This record gives sequence, C-alpha cells and structure tokens, in this order.
Amino acid sequence: MSTNTKNRLQITFLGAAQTVTGSMHLLEIDGHRALIDCGLYQGRRNQSRQLNRNLPRVATEADVALLTHAHIDHSGNLPSLIKHGFKGKIHSTAATEDLCHSMLLDSAHIQSSDARWLNKRNRHVEGWEPVEPLYDDEDATKTLDRFIPHAYDEAFELFEGVTARFIDAGHVLGSASVIIDVDREGLKRRIAFSGDIGRRNLPILRDPTPAEGADYVVMESTYGNRTHEPVERMDEQLAEVVERTRERGGRMVIPSFALERTQEIVFAFNRLIKSGRIKPLPIFVDSPLAMNLTRVFRRHPECYDAEANSFSENHGDPFGFERLRMVQSVEESKRLNDLTEPAIIISASGMCEAGRILHHLRNNIENPNNTVVIVGYQAAHTLGRRLVERRRQVKIFGVKRDLHAEVAVLNAFSAHADKDELQWWAEACGEQVKGIFLVHGDLEPAKELGAALEAKGRTVTIPEPHQTIVLD
Ligand SMILES: [Zn+2]
Repeated sequence: MSTNTKNRLQITFLGAAQTVTGSMHLLEIDGHRALIDCGLYQGRRNQSRQLNRNLPRVATEADVALLTHAHIDHSGNLPSLIKHGFKGKIHSTAATEDLCHSMLLDSAHIQSSDARWLNKRNRHVEGWEPVEPLYDDEDATKTLDRFIPHAYDEAFELFEGVTARFIDAGHVLGSASVIIDVDREGLKRRIAFSGDIGRRNLPILRDPTPAEGADYVVMESTYGNRTHEPVERMDEQLAEVVERTRERGGRMVIPSFALERTQEIVFAFNRLIKSGRIKPLPIFVDSPLAMNLTRVFRRHPECYDAEANSFSENHGDPFGFERLRMVQSVEESKRLNDLTEPAIIISASGMCEAGRILHHLRNNIENPNNTVVIVGYQAAHTLGRRLVERRRQVKIFGVKRDLHAEVAVLNAFSAHADKDELQWWAEACGEQVKGIFLVHGDLEPAKELGAALEAKGRTVTIPEPHQTIVLD
C-alpha cells in the first residue's frame, strides 16, 4: 500500500469518458481501490464487444464496487467483472439491487441469444471461431449475491477512514449519487460521483440532491447542450395525442424503455383517467421485463416523492388501474393485433431494436389512423430514429413497410437533467468545489456545459478515456 503523499487520491476514468455509455470510474485512496459503476458500452457491435470483453485489470482487482443505478450502461458489465475475478462487494441502494435482479438476468439472456445468433449466422464462414456470450445467467446470479443494499443517506465504511453514502439522484427508481468522505492520516476530502442526474418535478421520484460540500465532483453531461420541454407538459402532450388518435379510431403504439419510462407513462395515464382528462380506454403493457420492474416499483414506496405517495393514499396503486393489462404470454401479445377498438400498447425495447415492440410496429404503422408515440431518446441508426425522422419506408424484420401512421414525438419525457438543470445541480454543490470532471456525455455537450460552468468560475476538466488524475 502506498502512502506516498503525492498520489494519495486519484481517479481513473475507465469508461464513459467523452461518450455516454460504459460508465466506470476508479477511485484510489492510499492504494485502496473503489470502482464506481461498471456499465456496458453500447455502440457499434464490434467496438462494443471489444470494450466490454476487455475489462482493465485495475477494475477487476478493485477492492469494492459502488453502483449508482440499475441502467445497463452503469450496471451491465458487473457480471463480467465477477467472471474475471473481482472479489469485492457491490454497494447500492435497496431499490437498485432489487431492479438489478431483473435487469442483469435480462441482460445475460440478451448476451446469450446474441452469441447464438452470431454463431449461427457465421457458421459457414471459414475460420469462424464461435463467440462465447459476454456472460450468462450464472455470472449474473453470482453478481447479485455480492450486492449489499443501503438506504439513502446511510453512511457505511469502505476502508479505514473512508465512508460512503448514496444520495437521491432523481433519475430512475433507486438512482443515487455517491458521496465518498475521506478522513484518514491528515487527509480530509469529499469526492462525489453524480451518476445520472434526473430532472426536478419528475413524476414518482424525488428531485435530485446536489452533492453539498464536495471538494471534487465527477458529473454527467449527457444533455449539456440541450434544453428539454418542461416536465409539466408531459400529461398535456399525452392527453392531446390520445384524443386525436381516438377520434380517428386508431391505436397508439408506444415504444418504451422497460425501466422508469414505462412506469412513468402508466402513472401518467392513471392520473389522466382518474382526473377525467381522458376517457378510459384499454391500455396494454406488453413487456415481461417492464412487468417485473413494475413489481419492484411497488415494493419501494420509500423512493416515491410526495405526489406519488399522496396518489397511492387516495387512489391506490399508481401502476395499476381498471383498464390496464400486463400482457404475459406470447399468444396474448399476438392477440393484441385483433383489437378493433382504440387502445394503447406500451412495449419494449425503447429504441425499437428488439423485443415485442417490433411486432406491434409491423402491425400498426401502415394505418394512417394509428399513432406511434416516441417518448425516449432514439440513437442514430436505430429503427426508433428512422421513425422520428418520419422516413416513408422502414424495414422491420427485413421487410420494408410504408409508414402512414402519425409519429408523435413527446419531448417532455426525459429522465436526464438538461443543460440548465445540470448547471443548477453543479452550482448547488457549493462554492468550495475545487474541480469538476465531466463524463457521460459526448464531447460537444460536455464542452458546452464545461464552458458554462467555467464562466461561473469553476475549474472543469473533460477527461480522456483511461486518463488518471491525481487530486490534491
Ligand atoms: Zn441512467
């Protein structure tokens, strides 16, 4: 163990440096190593495979890991970490642990079926070496055994003279920023890792808590150059599109992320129906993962904000109501195609890349009475993005389909703070902050946010991938 005064405290930016996925940061304190997040990099297939498979040794040899939230770009490579010999515990909030049960097993399932698909497609390619899944069910299960759940604000010891705690990040259920307090052998510092920062006034969740008193802040910058529509517009936007589609006698198909977005939309419909703003109509959630995650939401009311709690008291379950149906079997999912009355189908994946949503899009986009409602970020090269661009034709299951349905893009739905909200969060950490490191953002948004913070007198660094920075 080194107690060299020069390198007592340092951070290595192992992932999500100048990009938005694959979050992974290593904090070293007098030679003790804590890994913050271990997410999957999600991008072009080959590059992703390369990055996700080759975890750096400093990561697998870390003493302990802390997880900010259950999104796969933060949690999804933990099973690889275990597979490659990581021996430590994984600390998270209780809700994050609970969500990870479904998220990591689902991810293991995707890894296995991807590997099978690749091996099948390339089986006749000369010299093709069958690929192994990145990890499997067993690795995911072993990972879940390492979790230690915590309540928000509960301090726990990481190493001698070093404590950690989670504060609410208001981004998805259980999401947290990590605060690490060092008080050992004359060194006293507070280091904060923001994780993903949510928006103020988001339904269900409490508002993000700034990392007050931090000396150094590692913070996300996903939307460092964008302004979202106000959260308050969500219900209004949704009600308008429901009424429009109903008048045409059409169906609404909503591609949605299984975690958080689906529960937010269900809760929004529940509010709209209970308040009489829309007339009841059948709503189907057709995603087994979303269904499992919704159960987790019900188990963790300690994460709800005052509004969600008072709704529960007055109206019962925010995520269940008379006309809502969770679709379980494939047969039932197929039967949705025979519906004749106006209805709403919410299904995953959120960017229309896989899953049951593909069947619903195939069956519905050629009818001009129907509406595809986009409520989430659609990355370049995804089917979701092509729908947002309103291409005349899109390919689904290899077959070209004419896009005649309306495509409604509702921008008020976002689980990430925008430029102004990020600046508010950074400012609210306090005057004493000595350095801000911007991660989890492409270079442009990071630079724009960085410039705005520097204009307010902050010292900002946008670290390069794998760069190590010594903190004084
Ligand atoms: Zn996230």
